[in-house]
Amino acid sequence: MADPSRDDAVFNQSPPFADVNLFASDGALREAVSREGADWAAVDLDVFGGVTGSAAAIEFGRRANAHPPELQSFDAEGRRIDHVAFHPAYHEVMAISMAQGLHGSTWEHLLTGGAPKSGAHVARAAGSYMAAQMEPGHCCPITMTHASVAALRHVPELAGEWLPKILGRTYDPRTAPAAVKSAVTLGMGMTERQGGTDVRANTTRAEPLEGGRGGAYAITGHKWFLSAPMSDAFLVLAQAKAGLSCFLLPRLTPDGDLNGLRLVRLKDKLGNRSNASSEVEFESAQAFLVGEEGRGVATIIDMVTLTRLDCAVSSAGLMRQALARAIHHARHRSVFQRLLIDQPLMAQVLADMALDVEAAVALAFRLARAFDGGTDEDEAAYRRLMTPITKYWVCKTAPALVTEAMECMGGDGYVEEGGFPLLYREVPVNAIWEGSGNVMGLDVLRVLERSPDTVQRVLEGIDQIGRGEPRLKTALDRIEALLASAMRDQSVARALVEQLALAQAGALLLAHAPQAVSDAFLATRLDGARHGTYGASAAKLDAAAIIERAAPAPI
Ligand SMILES: Cc1cc2nc3c(=O)[nH]c(=O)nc-3n(C[C@H](O)[C@H](O)[C@H](O)COP(=O)(O)OP(=O)(O)OC[C@H]3O[C@@H](n4cnc5c(N)ncnc54)[C@H](O)[C@@H]3O)c2cc1C
Repeated sequence: MADPSRDDAVFNQSPPFADVNLFASDGALREAVSREGADWAAVDLDVFGGVTGSAAAIEFGRRANAHPPELQSFDAEGRRIDHVAFHPAYHEVMAISMAQGLHGSTWEHLLTGGAPKSGAHVARAAGSYMAAQMEPGHCCPITMTHASVAALRHVPELAGEWLPKILGRTYDPRTAPAAVKSAVTLGMGMTERQGGTDVRANTTRAEPLEGGRGGAYAITGHKWFLSAPMSDAFLVLAQAKAGLSCFLLPRLTPDGDLNGLRLVRLKDKLGNRSNASSEVEFESAQAFLVGEEGRGVATIIDMVTLTRLDCAVSSAGLMRQALARAIHHARHRSVFQRLLIDQPLMAQVLADMALDVEAAVALAFRLARAFDGGTDEDEAAYRRLMTPITKYWVCKTAPALVTEAMECMGGDGYVEEGGFPLLYREVPVNAIWEGSGNVMGLDVLRVLERSPDTVQRVLEGIDQIGRGEPRLKTALDRIEALLASAMRDQSVARALVEQLALAQAGALLLAHAPQAVSDAFLATRLDGARHGTYGASAAKLDAAAIIERAAPAPI
């Protein structure tokens, strides 16, 4: 204990939030992993939780963001190199996540043969949730690499060549032909200047060199956003004779020269600063058709769906990290001679935030299980409907929660060393990319229109869990009314999506969370008025019990 009479004494400050095992200290996560089918991964996840929560890993994350990547267009002699130089700390976090297999673990059965490992998506989601807390920016290339297999696996020639390298777990950042590398990463290029949502407006052209499935094309045009431009290859959309098509575009040609891919500049982004996002021009870049000509969106959509799951998982991780830090601080900081955690108004705020973290974790991991569900009809319906809904709600809830958690820290929350500015700058991006909020709403309307059955299956699931629970029943009635108007009126899509997210989260918490959590969630999110700012509900919460469960292990 510091001597308070000394001028340089530091007292009444919380100890650094470091060396916290992100798995062991997170009860909601551990339960979700077990409940959704990945109990077998618990020991491994516990080790990964120790690594990602370590002081060393947090420092890697801080440095990787404090020293963003730099574009080096030419070498000293004026030769074009189109190189992006990263801080060594970025390579460290990439190596940690790739060693865990976050860029490919769910696809390993494609190489070894046999069925997908049960619970593989849930186990990977748990790793991604912790990796995002360690350093969120690098999750972009990790996610894209993992998701790319969903498209590539349909072309045996390309899959045979690239899969063994995609599944490698020893990160290899060299610019070298894939054949000599221990592992590769992949990016994706869809967004052009004139449109990201409306990719059918893409103007980038593909001219056949050989033609046919897996055949070579020359790609000419541009992409307005191409993240992780040092990836070894990219899945890009371009207009071929039969329409918009998907191509695999390696960064190097087969003989090891730079392919026709010119990095114009790197984006100066609000957050996500450790990750490079480039503007790029293609000059007859050699690429290979993935899927059929004219079926580009259909080919790449499975990849996009997987990245949407990751957006939700990663935002849930950021929410958890913000909440854990806020609770940690409140346990150590006294104001008016009383610890913040013991002050009723602070407890109300923290508990209210904890409810959204519980809901985000429940939704994200339930969705991950649906990706483990293969062809099971209920799981397929859940995936189809709940992917946009989960992405929408979790990614949109996260920024408000991170802001509130930052405020719980007082002035320290606003200062770089504490880590909150990194979280705060990062957190909006998951709502924007991979389909922004309105796009998720419209996607849900599309499900309603094309397969109303899908919605009914999910609603029945909620009803079965609720068994007449009055607040869930009221929510379901509200949803039925919204469903009726949504068919005529697009503008209610967000209202519908939000209600579906809250009802599904309420059902999951009712079935699996302690009563203090589920009661409070149903009372504040499903009963009557729309939930406003944190801590503003007049409902009486069992704040102590909710916070106790959410609190990271005491330090
Ligand atoms: C950091 C970062 C990295 C990125 N990296 C990549 C990458 O690697 N590869 C890649 O391809 N893209 C990438 N993107 C691009 C991103 O996916 C797009 O920005 C996103 O899809 C939105 O497209 P847009 O910017 O063209 O906006 P627009 O499509 O113009 O949309 C603008 C707004 O309009 C809304 N909207 C669209 N249609 C409708 C409608 N019918 N009704 C109501 N509202 C609508 C959208 O929800 C959005 O809010 C990245 C973006 C960021 C921020």
